[in-house]
Amino acid sequence: MANAGNDIVLPPEYSGPAQLLLYTRYGNPRDIAFENKWIYSWNVQDAFPWFPVQKLRIHKHFWPLLDAAFKELELYNLHDEIKGIGDCYSIHTINETQPLLSMHSWGAALDMHTNPDALLNKAIWSNDFIEIMEKHAIHCGQKWAVHAEPHHFAMVNG
Ligand SMILES: [Zn+2]
Repeated sequence: MANAGNDIVLPPEYSGPAQLLLYTRYGNPRDIAFENKWIYSWNVQDAFPWFPVQKLRIHKHFWPLLDAAFKELELYNLHDEIKGIGDCYSIHTINETQPLLSMHSWGAALDMHTNPDALLNKAIWSNDFIEIMEKHAIHCGQKWAVHAEPHHFAMVNG
């Protein structure tokens, strides 16, 4: 009676396509071994003294993308648009009413602001800025048609 493949029920934490992809690649971020295996302490200011914070704890597969993108932003003087840093690696659901995990739970997202005061931020990045991020396979929530989140950058679009 069961349709092949349709009877598998995913835990609600991973029911989104982006969550499923990260879960499949890297496992459950709530597992004790996850952090040691996948989270890297990146001293961003070593290479980019203009970066608003010294260090990020971030996924091992995400920081090299940002590293390459920041180098190119510098080349075109677009790094000046980055004025503040928010959330990076932190385990939480997308909102209080949903069990779906945020990309931040895997260290696969970084929030950045065009205003140092995040509350005032209506982050509008220039098209050139977004283009460079996308060239390096970094997705920006500014492009989302519904509930755009311009501060949100991630290695998976979600
Ligand atoms: Zn975010």
